[in-house]
Amino acid sequence: MALRAAELPMPRPSRGELLIEVAACGVCRTDLHIVDGELLRPRLPLVPGHEIVGRIITLGPGVEGFALNDRVGVPWLGWTCGECRYCLAGEENLCEQARFTGYTLDGGYADHVVADARYCLHIPPSYADTTAAPLLCAGLIGFRALRMASNAQNIGFYGFGAAAHILAQLCVAQGRRVYAFVRPGDADARAFAYELGATWSGDSDAQPPAPLDAALIFAPVGDLVPAALRAVRKGGSVICAGIHMSDIPSFPYELLWGERVVRSVANLTRADGVEFLAAIERHPVHTQIQTYDLAEANRALGDLRAGLVRGAAVLVPKR
Ligand SMILES: [Zn+2]
Ligand SMILES: [Zn+2]
Repeated sequence: MALRAAELPMPRPSRGELLIEVAACGVCRTDLHIVDGELLRPRLPLVPGHEIVGRIITLGPGVEGFALNDRVGVPWLGWTCGECRYCLAGEENLCEQARFTGYTLDGGYADHVVADARYCLHIPPSYADTTAAPLLCAGLIGFRALRMASNAQNIGFYGFGAAAHILAQLCVAQGRRVYAFVRPGDADARAFAYELGATWSGDSDAQPPAPLDAALIFAPVGDLVPAALRAVRKGGSVICAGIHMSDIPSFPYELLWGERVVRSVANLTRADGVEFLAAIERHPVHTQIQTYDLAEANRALGDLRAGLVRGAAVLVPKR
């Protein structure tokens, strides 16, 4: 499927909502899964995009914590019920009725977007609009995945794209060792990983020179699960950070034996957002971006699909 440009009526903020003029919107692999029909029941028609940076041009009634002209970030988690067992347990990322920006709510591949202020984030001033955009999902949900790896010292990243390139910098600043696994033969991605301070980089089917304490899988490829299990030590974790993955092939129990763990990471909480943005203020990261005009959204998605984006793709509306 391809996206189609359309004139829509200007959205109006309801109670507690912000009307935001979009300055930049990152292109996430999840957008590709939505456009390709791999995620079920999107809102249709839909404006995709959940890595939004913009400025508030209208405040709905009852908004707290934001003022007109504030710069604001809109992430994937757009609304939760506050009442289900998950919300009550502080696991709003698992809310039964959650709404997601650019999936079940209109998102940021647009000039303007409306968002519930309670789920919006203040962006650290040291980041430009375009370089801040990928922080809002690649960075933020990647950070949640990284927290699942707790105090792992040797960390493997499978798929060295938007998320891994941000987290690798954070890990290096924290004194951890980064092992970057890339598409077999992708010399450019290996070089990119070394530029960002990786200890080692190799093909995704290679064995790293040291056993990993944890592996984070960002590529949507189920074959990487047994590959990563082979690379982690006893007691280590394999964390699947994407929202969609091809089927995981069967593998010998021996790979899981030794208290190895395989788990997924779903969405984000507001607390993840606040904590992540504080972490990258302490340890500034440089997000490598390729910008595209908003009208070129299909080209940006195509480049992401083909593995042609170094770092993250970001859409910028023309004004
Ligand atoms: Zn809930
Ligand atoms: Zn995303």
